[in-house]
Amino acid sequence: MPFFHSARWWAAAALTTSSLIAGEGKWTPQQVLQLDPLMLRKQGLELPVSRLWDPRRGAGLLAATVNIGGCSGGFVSSTGLILTNHHCLFGVVQEHSRPDRDLITAGFVARTREEELPGKTTRVTVPRKFTDVTAEINAAAPAGAGDLDRSKAVDAKQKSLVAACEASAGARCRVAAFDGGLQYVLIESLELSDVRLVYAPPRAVGEFGGEVDNWMWPRHTGDFAMARAYKDGKPYTPGFYFPIARTGVKPGDFVMVLGYPGRTVRSLTAAEMAAQRDFYYTLREQLYGEWIRALEDSTKDNPAAAITVAATLKSLSNVYKNAQGQLAGLARGRIIEKQQAHEESVKTWASPRPEFAKALLAKQDLDARAAARRKTATRDFLLQAVANGPLALKHATQLVRLAAEREKADADRETDYMDREIPRLRARMERDQKSLFQPADQAMFAAWIARALKLAEGERIEAVDRVFGSGDSLKTLAYLYQSTKVTSLAERLKMFDESLAQLRARRDPLLGFAFLLEPELRSFQAAEKTHDGAVARLRPEWRRAVIAHTGKPVAPDANGTLRVSFAQVKGYAPRDGVIYTPQTTLAGMLEKHTGVEPFDLPQAVVDAARTIDAAKVPLNFLADADTTGGNSGSPTVNGRGELVGLNFDRVWENVANDFGYNPAVARNISVDIRFLLWLLKDVEKADNLLRELQPAGK
Ligand code: GLU
Repeated sequence: MPFFHSARWWAAAALTTSSLIAGEGKWTPQQVLQLDPLMLRKQGLELPVSRLWDPRRGAGLLAATVNIGGCSGGFVSSTGLILTNHHCLFGVVQEHSRPDRDLITAGFVARTREEELPGKTTRVTVPRKFTDVTAEINAAAPAGAGDLDRSKAVDAKQKSLVAACEASAGARCRVAAFDGGLQYVLIESLELSDVRLVYAPPRAVGEFGGEVDNWMWPRHTGDFAMARAYKDGKPYTPGFYFPIARTGVKPGDFVMVLGYPGRTVRSLTAAEMAAQRDFYYTLREQLYGEWIRALEDSTKDNPAAAITVAATLKSLSNVYKNAQGQLAGLARGRIIEKQQAHEESVKTWASPRPEFAKALLAKQDLDARAAARRKTATRDFLLQAVANGPLALKHATQLVRLAAEREKADADRETDYMDREIPRLRARMERDQKSLFQPADQAMFAAWIARALKLAEGERIEAVDRVFGSGDSLKTLAYLYQSTKVTSLAERLKMFDESLAQLRARRDPLLGFAFLLEPELRSFQAAEKTHDGAVARLRPEWRRAVIAHTGKPVAPDANGTLRVSFAQVKGYAPRDGVIYTPQTTLAGMLEKHTGVEPFDLPQAVVDAARTIDAAKVPLNFLADADTTGGNSGSPTVNGRGELVGLNFDRVWENVANDFGYNPAVARNISVDIRFLLWLLKDVEKADNLLRELQPAGK
């Protein structure tokens, strides 16, 4: 079966209303194939749908749409050149920056292939095949199994499907669950692990406006960069690449955004959404705010340290402002209240229909679980944060877990510690050293401990209490950092290969803390697995009722898999009395340029801009595409499949669209390809790259 053939949750729905398509919906490749071609044509799609995706050959524009380190990107040449966002390749730029060669500030142009800079952990996946495996997964769960057993059985089946899939050369596979288990799809991609930085603009261009303008409109940011994928030491030849549009977009034009949206939560019940608001986003805003201050304060007046923490600080700041936007948008759009009202109407509709009796019970159960989970939600958040917080804590817990998991047979291990993951885990541990500035890391750790020490009775973290609960926690922490060898790269890599007994014998105090924390992390993760098992049983029941009630195609929540969004270039009204037009230009960038960060353009850009009519160089544009995090770097293409821009952000009023789509404010932001061409030509004089970008229609 070359593609997923039964999009069961919506196949029965009629597909004839043209208003269905524009705007809302991150459509899977299979769904796109099932849409009415006439309707797509009316919207502005000039290509046959099979040119978007041909499931038999794994070919089409979607085959040129790659996942690059959790972002999206598109091939733009026959020699593996990939266009994505500056913020997606920022980690590679930071990896290669030093105070005496500060590529973050200066930008980077590889004038020859030899000059390109490898990203140690950067990987690209190219989609090949999608297969519906829902029946196999459901059959794997023993009838009447408890939730934990169900979850384990599903896990085991996924692992065996992935193992069989990865038997083919270069394949990287995953089984993706859609809407909590309504559908499971086995996705096979080609993985390319040799990815090199080719171009990054100076930060003052790639991030113009910084955190002031982030998630905002009007926008003037040149958020693009380029990488090249290699295979067997040679530039990779993609089956497809995007031609660069000769003409740009204008208001009203049809565009498509192709990419890998990461996570949305529209299929959650209102009670589950409220928990996301009250804990996940609220705590994120608080803790990440503290971490940002920790990084800023500890690197003040220290240029080398500022480079070391630059990528971490940038991503924390982005997520922090996103959390603020989610909270503000939920309140402003009354999204949870609307979800609740919608649920009431589904319930009223479903009540007299016996086929949905189970759906109503499932909904009750989901809500009851959401209520119960609130009791430990703060602790759970802190335990989750171990994986993306201070590096010393992350590494120590990973080393202990790795040693424990390695004692098991490969198929019995947690997915993250299976043999296929070990080389990448090791590479990340090595790469992390370039981001480790000990005082900053220690200050982040201190913020985490302070919160853990304030947890309510009933959700205490025992390991924290035992190690930091009495005496001066900051002094204890300082002692841990002074005595541990986990923060030394050479020692850490030795630890990477050690057994539990060897790690214990080291008597390293930070590893000691990790050993104490391990059982609590394990039991939290087991509880999460049990919950996942319950959700996989309940959510599909409820969603079937919601979708049947809706009576039209519903795109599943984002889950990091390839999607298409159909849209139109258009502005919006952010508030009463204000209308935003959908396009900005280089002239606006010059207007914003004050010479003070983050509005401080390089002189070369200012000089080049002053020699032309800057109002004629389009910079950013809006459309009503349905996007989220992970769509960063998504090719934005016109109806002929030609690249007109790259998605890089959403507008402030639209950040909370992760919970629900609101057509009035649903706007994504793309950087216009014409700005990139101007910059490469007039400022960077990067003729080699310009020659490589293929204009459409040649
Ligand atoms: N700027 C966004 C991010 O970094 C891009 C995608 C989005 O969330 O709209 O996550």
